[in-house]
Amino acid sequence: MSLKENLDRVKERLAGAAAKSNRSPNDITLVGVTKTVPEKVIAEAWRLGLRDFGENRVQEALPKMETLPPQISWHFVGHLQSNKVKFVVPAFSLIQSLDRMKLAKELQKEAEKHNSKVKILLQVNVAEEKSKFGLSPGEVEDALVEISAYPNIAVKGLMTIAPLVPDPEEVRPYFRRLHELFQQIRVPQVEMCCLSMGMTNDFEVAVEEGANMVRIGTAFFGERQE
Ligand SMILES: *Cc1c(COP(=O)(O)O)cnc(C)c1O
Repeated sequence: MSLKENLDRVKERLAGAAAKSNRSPNDITLVGVTKTVPEKVIAEAWRLGLRDFGENRVQEALPKMETLPPQISWHFVGHLQSNKVKFVVPAFSLIQSLDRMKLAKELQKEAEKHNSKVKILLQVNVAEEKSKFGLSPGEVEDALVEISAYPNIAVKGLMTIAPLVPDPEEVRPYFRRLHELFQQIRVPQVEMCCLSMGMTNDFEVAVEEGANMVRIGTAFFGERQE
């Protein structure tokens, strides 16, 4: 299938899932996750109308960005090492993967140098998997209160990576739980707008459960050789 057909197919499925939760697909941001995807394919996705792209490795992302339209909104979706913070802050519009409080401190320091406000999502390990990064649901509220005191960080919402299972119905309770948390938590100065959940395998379930941002790699660009 061509990239255009892949995009159309995902949009169709997204619209179906949005309808089930009484929402318009226009309220759901599609992020194309382009790790291992060459620049010319990303450029084609841009020409086909995709505006948000996600990368998980700084060393791979920066050289690609140089050749691509500067209007692209780049999302950082990987585990961010402290020594890479200085590259990520000026290059990405949203860091979706704030997965530990130490990173907040480092992002604050770097954003202050640039006199900018870095936008982040808190990564929540809803299923509390040992193998995954992220805060546990019980830590989210205190973390938000703490981060809201950092003048150069703007928290925009929550992100999760659900366990990889053959049947996405199995992870529906995790998406539901995060959506509840997203709706319940109120922290002064924090405007929670993004709920980033859902990938190729489970995005329809995630959208039915309230996601307003999905991160799609394989369904757009095909299987990765990793
Ligand atoms: C790779 C990746 C995705 C996309 O995964 P697919 O299953 O290929 O859609 C989404 N989110 C994160 C954090 C990723 O690393």
